[in-house]
Amino acid sequence: MNEAPNQPEPPVAAQESSPEVASTALATEAVEAVPAVTVTSLTADLPFVAYVVPEDEPRAQRLYRLRHSTAHIMAEAVVELFPTAQVATGPAIEHGFYYDFDLPRPLTPEDLGAIEQRMKKIMKRNWRFQTLELPPAEARQVFVDAGQVYKVEVLDTIVEKFSPETVTLFRQNKFVDLCAGPHVNGTKTCRQFKLLRVSGAYWRGDSDRPMLQRIYGTAWETAEDLESYLHFLEEAKKRNHKRIGTDLDLFHFHKHAPGAVFWSPRGYTIYQEFLSYWRDSHKERGYQEIYNPILYKKDLYEQSGHYHHYKSDMFILNADDTEYCLKPMNCPDTFLFYTSKRRSFRELPLRVSEGGILHRNELTGALNGLFRVRQFTQDDAHIFVTEAQVQAEIAELLDIAREIYAMFGLQYRFLLSTRPEKFMGEPALWDEAEGALAAALNANVGEGNYTLNEGDGAFYGPKIDIELTDCLGRRWQCGTIQLDFQQPINFDMKYIDTDNTAKRPIVIHRAIFGSFERFFGILLEHTAGALPTWLSPVQAVVVPISDKVNDYAWQVHGWLKQAGVRVEVDDRNQKMNRKIREAELRKVPYMLVVGEREAESATANLRTYKDGERGEVAVDMIAGEISLAISQRTFDVEIQPLRSFEDPDSVIESDAIGY
Ligand SMILES: [Zn+2]
Ligand SMILES: [Zn+2]
Repeated sequence: MNEAPNQPEPPVAAQESSPEVASTALATEAVEAVPAVTVTSLTADLPFVAYVVPEDEPRAQRLYRLRHSTAHIMAEAVVELFPTAQVATGPAIEHGFYYDFDLPRPLTPEDLGAIEQRMKKIMKRNWRFQTLELPPAEARQVFVDAGQVYKVEVLDTIVEKFSPETVTLFRQNKFVDLCAGPHVNGTKTCRQFKLLRVSGAYWRGDSDRPMLQRIYGTAWETAEDLESYLHFLEEAKKRNHKRIGTDLDLFHFHKHAPGAVFWSPRGYTIYQEFLSYWRDSHKERGYQEIYNPILYKKDLYEQSGHYHHYKSDMFILNADDTEYCLKPMNCPDTFLFYTSKRRSFRELPLRVSEGGILHRNELTGALNGLFRVRQFTQDDAHIFVTEAQVQAEIAELLDIAREIYAMFGLQYRFLLSTRPEKFMGEPALWDEAEGALAAALNANVGEGNYTLNEGDGAFYGPKIDIELTDCLGRRWQCGTIQLDFQQPINFDMKYIDTDNTAKRPIVIHRAIFGSFERFFGILLEHTAGALPTWLSPVQAVVVPISDKVNDYAWQVHGWLKQAGVRVEVDDRNQKMNRKIREAELRKVPYMLVVGEREAESATANLRTYKDGERGEVAVDMIAGEISLAISQRTFDVEIQPLRSFEDPDSVIESDAIGY
């Protein structure tokens, strides 16, 4: 609930016609003389009325008002500091707000501090938000007179599009804005805020229009919320996977191949470990791996429908007087594998996996480290089943998903998406498929333990999406399990049933990691780069305390290597503490410090990244411990989850796409 202003708003006329007098009359502290915001003197005679917030609103709505109101207050502060500022637009966004300005010079970090101080003053006075409806022409005149060209343009667009009888103005203290609201009652409600950064933004997102300066901020209801959100931002910054990737020498990017990862030896070691885990766990569960081409004539994608629906996301090349496409997903070519020979019911469920190299033509501006790339690999598989096999197969997939996510200490939830308004196929078949998915979820996850997204299915079939939550409370959609009735028709897939007649199988598209690249990025941020031993590029480092024991250090190296450990010796002529510090920075899970005493007893002074100093331990014990952690793929990492700032009802972007 928004608090009521703690001091009555001053009479509008007195406040506006003579701002200095009003300030003197009301201020309990010295108020600096500031240039009047032109707009207010122009609206002094207009009959603004106090804005009143409805009671008992849900938190999300309250936060929305608060954040948007903070944007207005920031605009007022900016105009005070830069009297010639042109004010553009300033919405509330997730966790905060921004406002775009056209300013005489680029803002510095000091400017942000000064703007914050101004905002605090405005908040302290608890100015009432006031509102007024005006015919568009009158409102337009206000902004024309104030020389606010962006506001005039926005107003003209509104008039052109909607021809409204009136438009709404909002005012607090000396700042007037063209705005539909909603706002809070008084400016004091917004005091738990912080300005975060400035970036460039083209007016209306159009690179032919002026580049404006966008100031971002965050705002919350309580000091505690603000503080934990700022802590979250700090942690997220520390854990930025691009930074970790550079610090730990795992991968890099180059402008000559936008959106494609250059894996360094260390990073590629981790990548290979992922792949072998994926292979092992799926082989165990009856999957067969295939490896298909990556370049196809467009005919394949015409048959699958991608060429028409997805062409703008595909890379297309010309050869042999025709178009070729780099494959954006494994589905269509896997279907060619299925139809390459006659299939019998005995083969079903047929589980076919392919970790093919995929390309999608993402806009260069949208590329983001490992999170959004143009070239990647998915832990993709397609399962060809009979109708009767759907439920059991889905149960099996839910089980795989749980096994995989638990391995990385990630929280997860399942979402069932059902038939959308536009769909293909028979409604009865849809009902049956949705029933099978729900039954599998009820039996394996528990009724009420998953979220129902009615009408959110793909047009070719219902699906289960799996959402992860990392230790910063951020949600990621990685896994997806989709039923598809459409592609079996497009590719005329068949199997010969028990009664010797040809029947149509159903395809299940599924990915659990999503793309390995993106999952790797998530894992790096989730663990802050301190990976579990089995994934670490260097699992142990041996540190001799002097060169007298270098031979012993290499002996220990040999023992560990024999036990299957990726081990290094740091026999550089450096101080021991420095070597230890460096190994820690590299997040090596096991560190074995050896001196003459250890050499005599075949021991080492053990330090682990997770637990610190562990004392003198026999090397064969250490080797045993490490090789167990490797073979069991133990998640031997300390994770301290932060509070989540995600709205559980908001939709997050999916990485995997089926069909
Ligand atoms: Zn507003
Ligand atoms: Zn697929």
